[in-house]
Amino acid sequence: MAAPPRPAPSQNGCRKGRAAPARSQDGRGCAVTSFPERADGPRCRHGNARGAGLRRGGAGWSGMEPAGATPPSCAPAREAEEPPGCPALPAERPRDGQHARNEREQAAERSGGHGPAERRAGRRPRVTVDSSKAKTSLEALKISLRQLRWREFPFGRRLPCDIYWHGVSFHDNYIFSGQVNKFPGMTEMVRKVTLSRAVRTMQDLFPVEYNFYPRSWILPEEFPLFVDEVRMMKESDPSWKPTFIVKPDGGCQGDGIYLIKDPSDVRLAGSLQSRPAVVQEYICKPLLVDKLKFDIRLYVLLKSLEPLEIYIAKDGLSRFCTEPYQEPTLKNLHQVFMHLTNYSLNIHSGNFIHSDNVNTGSKRTFSSILCRLSDRGADVKKVWSDIISLVIKTIIALTPELKVYYQSDIPAGKPGPTCFQILGFDILLMKNLKPMLLEVNANPSMRIEHEQELSPGVFENVPSPVDEEVKVAVIRDTLRLVDPQKKKRKDIQSQTSEHVSETKEDLLGAGPGGGVDYDTSKSTEPGLPSLCLKQVFPKYAKQFNYLRLVDRVAALFIRFLGVKGTTKLGPTGFRTFIRNCKLSNSSFSMASVDILYIDITRRWNSVGIDHRESGMCLQAFVEAFFFLAQKKYKSLPLHEQVASLIDFCEYHLAALDEKRLLCGRGVAEPHSGAGSNPDGESAPPVGRSPSGAGL
Ligand code: ADP
Repeated sequence: MAAPPRPAPSQNGCRKGRAAPARSQDGRGCAVTSFPERADGPRCRHGNARGAGLRRGGAGWSGMEPAGATPPSCAPAREAEEPPGCPALPAERPRDGQHARNEREQAAERSGGHGPAERRAGRRPRVTVDSSKAKTSLEALKISLRQLRWREFPFGRRLPCDIYWHGVSFHDNYIFSGQVNKFPGMTEMVRKVTLSRAVRTMQDLFPVEYNFYPRSWILPEEFPLFVDEVRMMKESDPSWKPTFIVKPDGGCQGDGIYLIKDPSDVRLAGSLQSRPAVVQEYICKPLLVDKLKFDIRLYVLLKSLEPLEIYIAKDGLSRFCTEPYQEPTLKNLHQVFMHLTNYSLNIHSGNFIHSDNVNTGSKRTFSSILCRLSDRGADVKKVWSDIISLVIKTIIALTPELKVYYQSDIPAGKPGPTCFQILGFDILLMKNLKPMLLEVNANPSMRIEHEQELSPGVFENVPSPVDEEVKVAVIRDTLRLVDPQKKKRKDIQSQTSEHVSETKEDLLGAGPGGGVDYDTSKSTEPGLPSLCLKQVFPKYAKQFNYLRLVDRVAALFIRFLGVKGTTKLGPTGFRTFIRNCKLSNSSFSMASVDILYIDITRRWNSVGIDHRESGMCLQAFVEAFFFLAQKKYKSLPLHEQVASLIDFCEYHLAALDEKRLLCGRGVAEPHSGAGSNPDGESAPPVGRSPSGAGL
């Protein structure tokens, strides 16, 4: 297998080889990294058993990367995202004698799913976990399962397991019951373009609340807009000297990213057509520690979509650049080790420091940074509460579309698994300590080892205590939170499913450590530490529920999708939505409705990534909805226009449902949840009709 390329930094810090930093014509734009498109998709070296020394052929490591060599994006030394398609740790084959044991185990499973000794001893049956698709998170998962004394099925199981641990996506395996650690559609949702779109929709509604995401444009479609807006901003403020960062969609680990000073430096030719990108304002003044730029990888558990439940890990990782930071200039734009914090890139710098100490080195715990900030007198509680707020708002931006994917893969009323997912949030702290969202990873790396060069050409995978400390705790405590047996016990103990705290909790009291109520997290399990995951939603729901407008629009969309299993609305569904919500009248005829549908749908389908289905996607529906809201409630700010139209629609649908119920016909549309807002509160009661009828 080809050795992963180890790019030797050139004098200026740029990668050599494959794609030398191509200067733009005027010499301003300079590649930070650029890898050729992979014809065979991302590949990945098999992980090695811990401590197994590897001798590599020198060729791939001499500096120039051979064409077609496995890109570093798939090298094991990574801290970003596991690209889809990476093989697992070496597939564990049954060793001698193990077949017989497996058969005994399987016989035991057939007789109730648990070992006879367990049953004889009257012990609680152990939770069963299928780890056959765990891929690179296998090592950390195994340690977690050992700590929990749960039962692992590394080769899968004929009988259903309680939990399925997937390495890549919901679709890694066909599952019809239990719980799986991935949501359908999550990988698509957190791609750079999709995330930017989802956040932009929220920025349109709530610009102040969503100012934690850098101003972004989607290329190539918004290139003219990007040029115009930058020109206008420069005209209004001639002292503004921006830098932009161009990031290919679906990329990870710094792949293909470059910095530019001017829109004319965007490389429009070729790859942009096949692989869209996001161009974003570059944050020029990050917080520095030891003169180095760093970012934060925080682990977030999305435990449930409906009702929304979010947990944040109390500790994360800080990944450091390896060259002292300078604000971007034409001379240093291309210096990867100064501007990009990716672990997978910086590990190749001669300055990278491996450390077993969580407070030092190029990868540290986030808590160690907070301690240093606190020593400097920074308001660490405020930093933490801003981060919590960023995480909740980002997830609120993602949930509407996730719900569309969810109902498509797991239609209501059909048997299917429930889902949860660990997400990796990449956050940059600005000099003024404001957290900014860089990206969300659907498959954050859960590797707990890194590669070390023992002597020239000899590499060894060695345990990484910093990774192990943070990641094993995240996996173990995720499992504790989704523990099906605990849920059963809890259901029996309390009949109430009410989670929302009645008091308006102050986020500022939500420091990373003390004084936090972890909901279910207080350790009742002997021998286990208290949970490292802290519930933030619904705990702080009251402060954020007003933002969940698009969720309610999505509920309307899902109601009118009609045939289950689709993600796009047909013209008839759209017409029915207009008619049932009484949105058409003499000044907005059904012919205008059809034109609106065709116009918006065509445009979205020309830029969308999902061309499998025809029809109106959720974003297109949201655009149409905003248009209708603006038309109907002219003088209000956009979020009030949209909220008013949602109330109006929900009111008419609730009235319709009531009428149908009285007539004994039941509700016509498959999803009647549209009458409820995300709080589970019903739409305005009959008699409290929102003003106006039609548009
Ligand atoms: P990837 O998925 O390829 O890692 P990211 O969006 O995480 O892409 O960007 C890679 C790195 O580039 C980040 O870790 C961060 O150091 C830097 N970066 C990304 N966006 C910005 C930005 N808007 N301002 C400053 N630095 C950024």
